[in-house]
Amino acid sequence: MTGRQRLAILGATGSIGLSTLDVVARHPERFEVVALTGHRRLDILAAQCRRHRPRYAVVGDSADAKRLGEALAGVGTEVLAGVAALEGVAALPEVDTVMAAIVGAAGLSPTLAAVRAGKKVLLANKEALVMAGAVFMAEVSRRGTPLLPIDSEHNAVFQSLPRAFDGNLAACGVRKVLLTASGGPFRATPIEALAEVTPEQACAHPNWVMGRKISVDSATMMNKGLEVIEARWLFNAMPDQIEVVIHPESVIHSLVQYVDGSVLAQLGNPDMRTPIAHALAYPERIDAGVAPLDLFEIGRLNFERPDLRRFPCLSLAFQALRAGGNAPAVLNAANEVAVEAFLEGRLAYPDIAQVIAASLDAVPAAATDTLEAVLAADRAGREAALGMLLARHAS
Ligand code: NDP
Ligand code: MG
Repeated sequence: MTGRQRLAILGATGSIGLSTLDVVARHPERFEVVALTGHRRLDILAAQCRRHRPRYAVVGDSADAKRLGEALAGVGTEVLAGVAALEGVAALPEVDTVMAAIVGAAGLSPTLAAVRAGKKVLLANKEALVMAGAVFMAEVSRRGTPLLPIDSEHNAVFQSLPRAFDGNLAACGVRKVLLTASGGPFRATPIEALAEVTPEQACAHPNWVMGRKISVDSATMMNKGLEVIEARWLFNAMPDQIEVVIHPESVIHSLVQYVDGSVLAQLGNPDMRTPIAHALAYPERIDAGVAPLDLFEIGRLNFERPDLRRFPCLSLAFQALRAGGNAPAVLNAANEVAVEAFLEGRLAYPDIAQVIAASLDAVPAAATDTLEAVLAADRAGREAALGMLLARHAS
């Protein structure tokens, strides 16, 4: 790539967005910010626009666009609103690379727009791949879109696979992909006590600072379940080729086991700026602002098998992956509804898994080989989960 890499950062105001801009700001000679998007946190977006002077900023609706436009008078940033604008900035001719860091199903259509426009796509928005893996990956191969994983586990697997990996694990001598998981804040909490845990406790992750939705997903281990499905698509892995290992220190970000007995892993301090810098600069390496790993300080690393009674969401995700079709999209949608209800104090923590399980049972199986079918599955999953919530309140 000649000249500076021109970036659109979708979800700039979130945890991944902030880390991305931190890396970008360390390398002004390499990166130029063309577009930033946010949703509710307009103050953060305004400050980011003043600092990085993108050509475009995108928010959710026209009232917010008006407010942000007034706040940015004289900055030279054009403020746009809505989903079509998100898709538009993701596909701009003057953009080389799109960071897809919107949370949840809302990220699907702009991320897909970036893929269809053949941009280099840095994928944080795992939900897009969980919902629409087949449609998404078909577009990636049709367009030859460079797709780099930001999720720390998948970035670690990517780094531990041969550079020539072309979607055939067996041909590269890979036996298994091992995804590590911290086990979250409730790894050792007595199971009976889980009924009482609060959103604040669930969001207090021991090793990572993240958005609230993914923090709850980490506590339930649905995050790892979504990542298993993400790995299925990114690495063309069968369910039996993916294993989850609890590793409470979050130093080994994931591993690849080869047929000759070798296991390759990527290690580092738990800081998302490492995978972000890796993907931004790939195949080069740049400073991410992350402290070097001090193995003497860490001392020892631990590993455990996940307890599926404690983490039923992990089983549900494997179940949805094996069922295929619309099941992963239904799982994802029901999870989004249940997590939101938990965060708002309307659902007890153990009921998150129950609502998802009941939603998977309620929605009839269907194929999801078109985007329309994926969106229908997403709607059906949401309706089923909302129905369960209403029924609980009525009883
Ligand atoms: P945050 O909640 O911190 O940020 C989410 C971003 O999406 C914000 O910019 C938010 O805008 C925007 N957003 C929310 N809803 C909408 C919507 N309906 N339309 C458009 N934009 C919207 O999440 P994270 O940064 O933690 O996570 C982002 C993605 O990255 C998720 O898919 C997550 O799973 C994934 N990921 C995150 C990791 C992490 O360490 N945080 C690690 C690995 C993956 P606003 O804030 O202005 O409302
Ligand atoms: Mg992860």
